[in-house]
Amino acid sequence: MATNITWHPGLTHDERSKFRGQGGLTIWLTGLSASGKSTIATALEQHLLHNGLAAYRLDGDNIRFGLNKDLGFSEKDRNENIRRIAEVSKLFADSTTISITSFISPYRADRDLARALHDKDNIPFVEVYVDVPVEVAEQRDPKGLYKKARAGLIPEFTGISAPYEEPLKPEIHLHSDKTSVEESVQVIVDYLVEKGYIKAL
Ligand code: ADP
Repeated sequence: MATNITWHPGLTHDERSKFRGQGGLTIWLTGLSASGKSTIATALEQHLLHNGLAAYRLDGDNIRFGLNKDLGFSEKDRNENIRRIAEVSKLFADSTTISITSFISPYRADRDLARALHDKDNIPFVEVYVDVPVEVAEQRDPKGLYKKARAGLIPEFTGISAPYEEPLKPEIHLHSDKTSVEESVQVIVDYLVEKGYIKAL
């Protein structure tokens, strides 16, 4: 039977990129709760999709309640949470999707591990620090979490009773108390274009 199927054993990341017309990478948002990670990630994902690029967001809703539902908030479980997110994000990126992760990821060592996993496979990793004074985050408090943490109902809440280790050299540093959501998305897109990861939109 004649078919029009052509194939060869193995398929490299470069070939995949060529066929899909885009590269893949991970955009790793980190910052305090309510700093604006999810808001910026959602706006960025939509903007990329509107422009015909494959993008996908990993966040608490689709990870914590699925893949990582067996994990709690001990340091060991937090480390494992981030490790799995990094591995999954890398797979999305390897599939040439722009993967956007939106997790507090408060520990430098965990973020460095996520970066190292990507470096190992030559997949770009863009760390974006969504910076905001904790007072501003606490005032926003869209999910009422700071209020609960202050009342002692959430032990080890980042920024209140657990540390947040600021990135030392993030690729992008946003100040979400001074920059609108749209401006933040633009800053990220400009960076991706400048680095040649995407074409100008
Ligand atoms: P995180 O994912 O970091 O916990 P969210 O995106 O869920 O944060 O919440 C941030 C809150 O701050 C939202 O209610 C959002 O509307 C608000 N906000 C106000 N200004 C900004 C801004 N410039 N950038 C991002 N979020 C902002």
